[in-house]
Amino acid sequence: MPIQSKNPATLEIIKTFEEISDTELESRLAKAQSAFLSWKETSFSHRAELMKKVGVYLREHAEEFGTMASVEMGKTKTDGINEIKKCAGCCDYYADNAEKILSNEKFEGSGSENFVEFDPIGPVLAVMPWNFPFWQVYRFAAPAIMAGNVGLLKHASNVPICAEAIEKSFTEAGFPEGIFQNLFLSASRVEKVIRDHRVMAVTLTGSEKAGQSVAKIAGEELKKSVLELGGSDPVIILPDADLKFSAEISTKARMCVNAGQSCIAAKRFIVHKDVVGEFTKYFVEEFLKLKTGDPLASDTTVGAIATEQGLLEIERQVNESVAKGAKVLCGGKRFGTTGYFYEPTILSNVSKGMPVYDEETFGPVAPIIIVNTEEEAIRIANDTPYGLGCSIFTKDIEKAKKIAPKINSGCVFINGQVISDPRAPFGGIKKSGYGRELSHYGIKEFVNIKTIWVSNHSGNI
Ligand code: NAP
Repeated sequence: MPIQSKNPATLEIIKTFEEISDTELESRLAKAQSAFLSWKETSFSHRAELMKKVGVYLREHAEEFGTMASVEMGKTKTDGINEIKKCAGCCDYYADNAEKILSNEKFEGSGSENFVEFDPIGPVLAVMPWNFPFWQVYRFAAPAIMAGNVGLLKHASNVPICAEAIEKSFTEAGFPEGIFQNLFLSASRVEKVIRDHRVMAVTLTGSEKAGQSVAKIAGEELKKSVLELGGSDPVIILPDADLKFSAEISTKARMCVNAGQSCIAAKRFIVHKDVVGEFTKYFVEEFLKLKTGDPLASDTTVGAIATEQGLLEIERQVNESVAKGAKVLCGGKRFGTTGYFYEPTILSNVSKGMPVYDEETFGPVAPIIIVNTEEEAIRIANDTPYGLGCSIFTKDIEKAKKIAPKINSGCVFINGQVISDPRAPFGGIKKSGYGRELSHYGIKEFVNIKTIWVSNHSGNI
């Protein structure tokens, strides 16, 4: 895959980048290592001061960087700007909280003093996807750097301009050279970086296939890895749900942001038979209000599919599902004549064995699956290799709280859309990966949790 910025809405090739040479890679790894040795000795207040400046810089450049994301990978400019502001919030969160989260923890033990400290581990490699080209990176980088580590980024090959802007945000904020470095590398050279003795851990957000490869190499090297992979999040609509509200939120959860290209987008709508007619009516109404088109236009709500491969895949999934009996309620085909666009699509009559039931659909397609009982809804929600998130719509909150533990996923949102938030742990189970990002759990993935035991005996025995 060339490292190339190509506008998926216009198909214009904006810029092609050269990969860095092995010599340059060596020099960057050496720089990361030497930067770490001094960075780990710095105080939290110093780190926080610089991290806050990244937040300020991002807010100042929100329009520019939001547009950049839109042009490189097709999300709406509005979503791009919101993403940049969210990144700034993440920098602030870790600037404000890292010291408290990583302060020593006392415990009752046999020593005169017993406590745990959280030491930084060194350079950490982040292999990141294009769908949230800024957010995915800052949610790794802000905690890692606040913990005293240094970051190395291998970004997706189709968002190189965003990758450069991210590196610049750290240098412009005054971080010393080597604290955060972008590496223009093809996926095939990730192995070399993971195996390098100076790289202590790796985190990957992306596909199952990439996750398996990274986990295998990290396993062979006995290095820590965190994997944030795909999802096929269910939305369960119970008979007592507020159906209009559920349809509005379900539409947002499926379509916005990124034309459905989000790991935590709602991907399967599991609706009780008693309310499927009314829910579907509202759901289609909401989909028909969506406006697909120029990602830079302020009234566009659904932008482009980021790559041709992504468009072909969503087309295949819909066509094969329709051939197996799914019914198109709206959409069902490409949109426009230029660029990688697909119409917001709702499919009914969906059942197991169809791609839109069995696979992750990374695009604007919503399959409706009808169930007869709550138990069946839970069974189908769990009938996926993935386990990232789930939404449940019902007026009976206590019932929903009892269903939540039966759902095999990293989070359950009751009467709401699954979202990420710096204050809440984020991650999945099963083929959605392992480990957690964000909150105090995320920052502790890449630290040495060290036990300190002290005897107050100071004389000779
Ligand atoms: P992808 O192909 O796996 O790419 C993600 C990153 O991994 C890119 O930087 C890519 O580099 C790199 N990569 C690909 N193959 C690799 C390999 N064998 N070894 C090392 N690195 C490799 O993923 P995608 O299709 O672009 O992104 C969509 C997937 O990401 C979806 O499944 C989505 O659900 C998932 N995702 C998950 C989360 C989450 O938090 N759980 C968030 C967002 C997205 P190149 O671009 O150079 O190939």
